[in-house]
Amino acid sequence: MNKQPNNITNELVHLGRDSVTNGRSVNLPVHQTSTILFNSLEEFEAARNDRYEKGTLYYGRYGNPATFELENMISELEEGAGCVAVSSGLTACAVSLMTFASAGSHILIADTVYGPTRMFCENVLKNYGVKVTYFDPMIGTGIDQLVQENTSVIFLEAPGSGTFEVPDIPAITKVAKDKGLTSIIDGTWSTPLFCKPITLGVDVVVHSGSKYISGHSDAMLGFIVTATEAQYNQARKMSLAFGDRAGANDVFLALRGLRTLEIRLKQHQESTLKIIDWLKAQPSVSRVLHPASPDCPGHEFWCRDFKGAAGLFSIELAHIPEQKVRNMINSLSLFAIGLSWGGFESLILPVDPAAFRVATEWKERGPLIRLNIGLENTQSLIDDLAVGFSHLNE
Ligand SMILES: *Cc1c(COP(=O)(O)O)cnc(C)c1O
Repeated sequence: MNKQPNNITNELVHLGRDSVTNGRSVNLPVHQTSTILFNSLEEFEAARNDRYEKGTLYYGRYGNPATFELENMISELEEGAGCVAVSSGLTACAVSLMTFASAGSHILIADTVYGPTRMFCENVLKNYGVKVTYFDPMIGTGIDQLVQENTSVIFLEAPGSGTFEVPDIPAITKVAKDKGLTSIIDGTWSTPLFCKPITLGVDVVVHSGSKYISGHSDAMLGFIVTATEAQYNQARKMSLAFGDRAGANDVFLALRGLRTLEIRLKQHQESTLKIIDWLKAQPSVSRVLHPASPDCPGHEFWCRDFKGAAGLFSIELAHIPEQKVRNMINSLSLFAIGLSWGGFESLILPVDPAAFRVATEWKERGPLIRLNIGLENTQSLIDDLAVGFSHLNE
């Protein structure tokens, strides 16, 4: 680096642009490549020997200069030893599990994990002889009791999908360290700006880059960040064994999105906290499940280990007939209906944690609704919700 970044704000502007700091354009171009050309057979052979090493140009699938800049940037932000960019957040979850859980071993998966990660365990890992136990994310050091002789991995998500419980990350990772297990965490919600799990003792952090990191609902990619070089090499080899790669346009969009990540998150946070205050005053809302809300299990761990409040959370409604809830959702004009989150637009969807959880109770609760707070005017979002909520009381 020509410029020495000294804090996150500067890092977000200057990291990942090494190869252009002496060039003409501010941004790296879209690096569209398959074949890489060499000047001699000897140079080609040297690249082949080093193809699993970080930053080696060999063939498009192994990454190109833009992929390497993005990977280094994410790794620096996470304070990791290395990062592997992959084609989606789900690929990051699946490849990290394939890397660190071997056939015949046993893994511990948080019951609140992202649904498709759970499906990967159920539909793929179990068929390859991996035993899976789901645990209550609020278990803390009690996870000790669930570790078996052949346990290889503890997989966490903080906060949990849909219900937003925040686990005691240091307590769980300490058990993992003491027992020689690999701890993996899905840190998509917080981004490296609001939590750095490696500094809390986690071995591997996975992200969906499709959410806040790219931030505009137009890219799909994922990241696997490791605490050590050895883990990085293992993860890189596994992703290459699957032939996976992050697409050139998606890499470009993630590098671009990262420049504004901090200011976007500030605005998402400010708006979210105001909307939560409004929601808490509504008689039809019985709980706000956001880590910043004392109603949320693990709020105290969020206060201790996280630096900010992201804009994705759920509200639990009082016992209201389903049709009224559907009318409420359908009546909104700023909150759109659709999957994913972390873009600039507000979204709403019902969630049903009872559908597959096995280690946590979700009984006799009111309907659960997930909100993604976008970058629209905060008061306009509240006004939109107020119109929607009038349908709950009809
Ligand atoms: C969206 C999401 C994923 C999957 O990411 P994709 O890029 O959509 O594959 C994984 N984990 C969490 C917590 C997510 O919200």
